[in-house]
Formats: sequence, C-alpha cells, structure tokens
Amino acid sequence: MKKNLKMIFLGAPGAGKGTQSDIVAERYGIPTISTGVMIREAIKNNTEMGLAAKSYTEKGALVPDEVVIGIIGERLSKEDCQNGFILDGFPRTVPQAEALDKMGVEINCVVSIEVADEKIVERMSGRRVCAKCGASYHTLYNPSNDGVNCDKCGEALSIRKDDAPEVVKSRLVVYHEQTEPLKEFYGKKGVLVLVEGQEEVKDTTKLTLEAIESTTK
Ligand code: AMP
Repeated sequence: MKKNLKMIFLGAPGAGKGTQSDIVAERYGIPTISTGVMIREAIKNNTEMGLAAKSYTEKGALVPDEVVIGIIGERLSKEDCQNGFILDGFPRTVPQAEALDKMGVEINCVVSIEVADEKIVERMSGRRVCAKCGASYHTLYNPSNDGVNCDKCGEALSIRKDDAPEVVKSRLVVYHEQTEPLKEFYGKKGVLVLVEGQEEVKDTTKLTLEAIESTTK
C-alpha cells in the first residue's frame, strides 16, 4: 500500500466527504483532518476562534481564510501527519489551496465526490452527527447501530444547525462559487479524480480507492 498519501476530498456539503475520509484514513492508518469538526469543537468550547467562527458557520458562509489556514498549518505540523493525512473540508477556496502550496505541502490525490444539488438537499435532511467525537451518520444511508447513539463514543446523535434546508441552499451556492474552482486548480496539477457519489457508501469507497491508486502509482 502506497505510503505518504496526502489527500484532499472535495465535494458539496453532504456529498459524503467525511464518511469516505474516515474509511480511507483507517485503511491507510493516517489521520483525517476536518476543519468543520475543528471549528464545531472550538464553537462548543467557546474558544476565541470558535466565537469568531460561529456567526459564519450558522448562516452557511465560510470562515475567513486566515483563520482556517492558521489552524490547518498548526495541525499539519504535528507528528501524526508526517506519514500522510486526509483533508476533509479544506481547502475550500483558491487562496486556501495556495496557502498549502506555500507551506510546501505536496498533495498527491484529490477526489471530488460529485452529487447533484437536488440529491444533496434530500440527503442533508437525514444527516445526524455526534457532537462529542465528530462522527457522521445518515438515517437511511449510513445509520448508527441503534439509530440514536454514536457507535464510536455512545453520545446521543444530533442534527447540525447548518443542515437546515435554507442554510444548505446557501452552502451549495458558496460551494459552487468558491470551492468548485479548486477542481481546475488541482486538475492542472494532474492529481484530480472525479468520483460519482453512489447510493451505497461502500460503492463510493471502491471508486475512491481506485482513484487513489491511479494518482499515487
Ligand atoms: P463542514 O463540516 O466541512 O461542512 O464545515 C462546516 C462549516 O465550517 C462550513 O460551512 C464553514 O462555515 C466552516 N468551514 C469548514 N471548513 C472551512 C474552510 N476550509 N474554510 C472556511 N470555512 C470552513
């Protein structure tokens, strides 16, 4: 198995980035780094960064680049990232991707999970998350074992505030305007693979693993 996988998942909110990141991370024995999880954690703990981020996330807007670039830079310098990592939800703008380049981080695989907007809105209504450990589930496609509590830590599952339908629609607009241009950015670098998001999690995983093999050969 290829070592030093430095991977990014792109895709609309709810496309399945978090779910696939966790599966691939476990398979490769590398960490998943999710800026969304880190931001929600900071909001829950009322840290300075959390307070600054809260108003943006609640309305479905992006947190300013300098804030997320700062937290990613710090996280990537940790020991557990030295043999590879998966970024879920970062970068989300071209300046964030340029910041990774400036840090000297060489990404060798970018998978964009493609799911139509209508499907996203439908899917988001069933999303459930664990506020304690950040795990993500879906009432139909990826339920927890008992449908109520987190399989990993036992916490009761909840619905994210920003998964409300009106907020999801704003997040999709933000995705198309600010994040989708990253496909061109990484396409030019020759590391991008588009993967059609499938109904079944395992089918998307299969396509994702093939994509990793094709870019990291
Ligand atoms: P996510 O869980 O990845 O959907 O992120 C939830 C929210 O956190 C987003 O809607 C943004 O408000 C914020 N966020 C997460 N990652 C980023 C990022 N890379 N840049 C800016 N804002 C972000």
